[in-house]
Amino acid sequence: MRTQVAIIGSGPSGLLLGQLLTEAGIDNVILDRVGKDYILGRVRAGVLEEGTVRLLDEAKSSTRLHAEGLPHDGFSLAFDGRDHRIDLHGLTGGKRVVIYGQTEMTRDLMERREECGAPTIYGANNVQPHGFNSDTPYLTYEKDGISHRIDCDFIAGCDGFHGVSRKSVPKKAVRSFEKVYPFGWLGVLAEVVPVNHELIYANHPRGFALCSMRSMTRSRYYIQCPLDEKVEDWSDDRFWDELRRRLPAHHAEALVTASSFEKSIAPLRSFVAEPMRFGRLFLVGDAAHIVPPTGAKGLNLAASDVHYLFSGLAEHYQDRSNAGLEVYSARALARVWKAVRFSWWMTTMMHRFPDTSDFDQKIQEAELDYLIHSRAASTALAENYVGLPF
Ligand SMILES: Cc1cc2nc3c(=O)[nH]c(=O)nc-3n(C[C@H](O)[C@H](O)[C@H](O)COP(=O)(O)OP(=O)(O)OC[C@H]3O[C@@H](n4cnc5c(N)ncnc54)[C@H](O)[C@@H]3O)c2cc1C
Repeated sequence: MRTQVAIIGSGPSGLLLGQLLTEAGIDNVILDRVGKDYILGRVRAGVLEEGTVRLLDEAKSSTRLHAEGLPHDGFSLAFDGRDHRIDLHGLTGGKRVVIYGQTEMTRDLMERREECGAPTIYGANNVQPHGFNSDTPYLTYEKDGISHRIDCDFIAGCDGFHGVSRKSVPKKAVRSFEKVYPFGWLGVLAEVVPVNHELIYANHPRGFALCSMRSMTRSRYYIQCPLDEKVEDWSDDRFWDELRRRLPAHHAEALVTASSFEKSIAPLRSFVAEPMRFGRLFLVGDAAHIVPPTGAKGLNLAASDVHYLFSGLAEHYQDRSNAGLEVYSARALARVWKAVRFSWWMTTMMHRFPDTSDFDQKIQEAELDYLIHSRAASTALAENYVGLPF
């Protein structure tokens, strides 16, 4: 088989890139090692920046998002037993975010891809990129015990943190930067009305809590927990009790609870691999970087990488220029590092660290107090939260 762009990974990065290429008339094939249902069963991000929504519009995959997504003009920072609203809309000159689950976005992109008849190979085992430092790269993979080869012009490594793309690059060609945080997030998903119409980020002596949602009938709640905590030790009742303790009293009283239908613990890390281009292999999204979810940036960063790579590929095929591809890594990384900084800062400001001293604690309290009383500081938070331009 031959294609123009071979894409490894059918997560948000791979699907969005594939759909932008397809709409622009550029051939592409997506391969994923797992099946469609498995991918749609993953519960992950839910806050979309306007730039991400714009790309989904370009990919003609946003009809349901515009009908069902919840535009949010602000969120709450809760500490000291009170709510402090960050007015995203007012502070950023009219910008907002949209609440729409990654699972739904993925489903919309898959459906549009099927409508267009663009090929996706699910259950592709042992995918390997080859020859990406030459002009004739190709992929090999196995399916149902048979080996296959796809020749292509470019390979997009959209295969997440544990994927094969980054691992295929010689170790000495890639530099990694990493910070692992000494806690995780225990998250539950439940069919209940959200406790507040906007998200609540709570800083509490017992640890961080986040009240989020996927719709007006489906809530997503998280609490900070030690890394060695086990999901089995957390009954629903224990989770709801702990969440209540970390919220201001009026929210704790209003919290509606029910049996959860998803419960998991996610570790938190910051990770960046540099560069993001190796000849004709490009790393995109989680394959190149991970951020802790505190700033809601992971999925949105994947989308901005896709934008830069798609622009470069479109220039290559439509204008016969490689200028955009040459600068892909530098452009993407400049934005990635700003989001890594923001996510690290939000995480540091909102969580209790096991080794926090009294001094550190006072600094954290002073920072939160400054943040809500200074328009300049609130604006910097809002500007980053709605997403820096790309
Ligand atoms: C538990 C969890 C919770 C999260 N919560 C949030 C959140 O609240 N907010 C936020 O902004 N972000 C969150 N994120 C991050 C966000 O989900 C990711 O940034 C986003 O999924 C990145 O998309 P991606 O397409 O780059 O990678 P992925 O979504 O990881 O997709 C990669 C795809 O590649 C496939 N693949 C992997 N290896 C191979 C291989 N060898 N061969 C073929 N295919 C392969 C995988 O099956 C997968 O389908 C969360 C992530 C996790 C894991």
